[in-house]
Amino acid sequence: MIVDDEHIQFADENTSEAEPELEWRVLIVDDEPDVHLTTEFALKNAIIVDRKIEFLHAYSGSEAIKLLAREHDIAVVLLDVVMESDEDGLEVAKQIRNQLNLQDVRIILRTGHPGYAPEFQVIRDYAINDYKNKAELTQNRLLTIMTTAIRSYQQIRTINSSRRGLEMIIEASASLFERRSIDSFSYAVLNQIASLLSLPSEGLICNRILKRRGKKPQYEWQILASTGHFSGVTTELLTQNHSLEIANTIEHTLRSKTSLYENNFVILYLSRPADEDTAIYLRTNRQLTLTERQLLEVFSANIAVGFENLTLFKQMQDLAFIDPLCHISNRTQFVAQLNQLYLKKQAQIVLLIDIDHFSQINDALGHLIGDQLLQSIVQRIKSSIKETLILARVAIDVFALAGQISDDEIRSIIGIFTLPFSVASHQLRVHVTVAAANILDTDPSGIGCLKDVTIALNQAKKFNRGGLLWYSPSMSRASKQRLDLLHDLENAIKHEELTVFYQPQINLATGYVIGVEALVRWPQPDGGFISPDQFIPLAEQSGLIIELGSFVLETVCKQLSVWRKEGLDDLTMALNVSMIQFNHPGLIEQLSSAILRYEIPAGLLEVEITESVAMQNPEAVIYTIEQLKNLGIKLAIDDFGTGFSSLAYLQKLKADRLKIDRAFVRNMALNNSDSSIAEMVINLGHKLGISVIAEGVEFPQQASILRTLGCDEAQGFMFAKPAPANSLSLWFKETGRYVAV
Ligand code: C2E
Ligand code: CA
Ligand code: CA
Repeated sequence: MIVDDEHIQFADENTSEAEPELEWRVLIVDDEPDVHLTTEFALKNAIIVDRKIEFLHAYSGSEAIKLLAREHDIAVVLLDVVMESDEDGLEVAKQIRNQLNLQDVRIILRTGHPGYAPEFQVIRDYAINDYKNKAELTQNRLLTIMTTAIRSYQQIRTINSSRRGLEMIIEASASLFERRSIDSFSYAVLNQIASLLSLPSEGLICNRILKRRGKKPQYEWQILASTGHFSGVTTELLTQNHSLEIANTIEHTLRSKTSLYENNFVILYLSRPADEDTAIYLRTNRQLTLTERQLLEVFSANIAVGFENLTLFKQMQDLAFIDPLCHISNRTQFVAQLNQLYLKKQAQIVLLIDIDHFSQINDALGHLIGDQLLQSIVQRIKSSIKETLILARVAIDVFALAGQISDDEIRSIIGIFTLPFSVASHQLRVHVTVAAANILDTDPSGIGCLKDVTIALNQAKKFNRGGLLWYSPSMSRASKQRLDLLHDLENAIKHEELTVFYQPQINLATGYVIGVEALVRWPQPDGGFISPDQFIPLAEQSGLIIELGSFVLETVCKQLSVWRKEGLDDLTMALNVSMIQFNHPGLIEQLSSAILRYEIPAGLLEVEITESVAMQNPEAVIYTIEQLKNLGIKLAIDDFGTGFSSLAYLQKLKADRLKIDRAFVRNMALNNSDSSIAEMVINLGHKLGISVIAEGVEFPQQASILRTLGCDEAQGFMFAKPAPANSLSLWFKETGRYVAV
């Protein structure tokens, strides 16, 4: 329950304010003592507006001001206009309003000089109530004038005190609005109202919501807060025994939609949007004054706004957990729901259903159709599963199910995708890839479980598209190993543990070693190497490839300059460059800087990019190629034949060399006749004036076929394996850069 300091403070302020003034205080200002006596005598026993009069006296203007500054709650000043000087009284009136800033006190001007009258402007500016000639003032008239003045003083005070009440409400509301849940807001409301009225907090807040679930709409009751005697009361309790009357009265208030003020309680009705009503029942044990009731009305309006804000806030929170398109749990909520499942410690199944090629549907038919498709998929899934299962959308085109799902049920869920979905005028066939896991096999947390099933889903998408794959712990181990590897790689790069091997490239006609391809190596403590096929993709995914690439670039340029000094001044150097590195703005700068520093003719450097990757973003690639060409650096298309380049595109790439992929060379050896792709590549290259090199040449047979087909160059184990720079230096010397072809 919330009882803040600020509430207690309110109560205190309130009590002191409610202290009744027992007599009206009237100040007589006049330099003639007689006037004091006669006035006091005339009004001595008068009861005006239920109270007697207490007199205060001042005999000069300055004395009056001092007294007014000191005393409080003076209702009326009877002021003599002419004292020591003409219009001295007017000066007093001016100071009362302007310097002392007393706006409530009523001023009655009196003068002993018949015919004297202050100007209208003065009366208006100093809010002077009345102006009377002393001679005119019979006892009766004085009484009438005083009554009018005191009444108007009282009214002003009431208005001012409700204005203060309003300020309190605004303050109270502000402190209420800091609450972020309906619950704590409701309790604060009860306490705040009680404070405003200086009452112990004893009441309850009821909500009535119209539910349109079945055919017949029904009201549902909620108790939002209960304090004092009502603490812990439930809707059931309320409708039983002694409280039944209260319940009925509250219901009546809600139905009549107006607040109810009774002798010992109030029920405030809060008007809420269409389907919701709120009533605040508060025990007062006394009748509230008109001002208090007015205050409460204003406060109720504020509270209603507060409830609205919180409802909106809750809706916003819902947004954070509900998928707005399909109105099912989103990923965040699903993770929370999985966490709940773990508490049950039972075998439960989690399914991920990935819509194959959803982005193509989206691209081809538009997002609207895509959205509708997702919605109808949800509808169909819903109609095929038990209500107890959790259904969520965890990614754009991935749905998740969790709960007790049997193998048969999994089959029937997958089965719903055999029939096409009709969306707008389209009949859309949807194929799905499904991953399943028993949560006892996965990481024992919502987030960990989802991660594990996602690993299975990714594997399924790679190797088993359109099928179902069950998660097994070994899958996660593999992915954890990859993470460890990445961590180690980061360290290896930082500590410059990577090295570069070089594999000779041979002219097939002459056997002359025209150049080398640089291949990065990651040495291991056991003397072996981790294959670049393992760590290059990791480096690409993590962005480490930029650092790795710069290291290789720097190393090979340095090595080339060493070899040039050893006399190998026509040796070319081929460098593998990943697409991320290729698109990186630093690459060209780094290349041109290295060329300058190591005094390398640019034409001896050759950058290799793989065909399939270059095809993914041709425009970006062509831009960098232009810059490479400007420097004079050569370009080779690696793994050619696997990436489906169009002829037109190939021309645009302005490649200097095509590298026939290893796979086609291998086929050549397995099946004597299968050289068609190699042949095609060679012919294509030559037609475009591009030289062709074959990689992965392991056997003389392959070399001779390639030569027959007109292939210009080759590299492979048959000629030389990739090797460290110093052993190649030796090998160059031994062979004179010629090998048998
Ligand atoms: P790649 O560019 O296709 O490199 C050729 C691969 O074939 C090398 O594998 C090489 O050792 C291997 N190889 C050479 N001759 C033969 C042969 O006769 N038979 C067989 N079976 N294989 C042969 P490696 O060194 O394991 O490199 C694998 C891939 O890693 C490379 O394929 C390349 O894509 C990438 N890579 C290597 N070094 C770097 C680098 O410095 N930067 C980047 N971005 N990628 C690199
Ligand atoms: Ca290569
Ligand atoms: Ca290759």
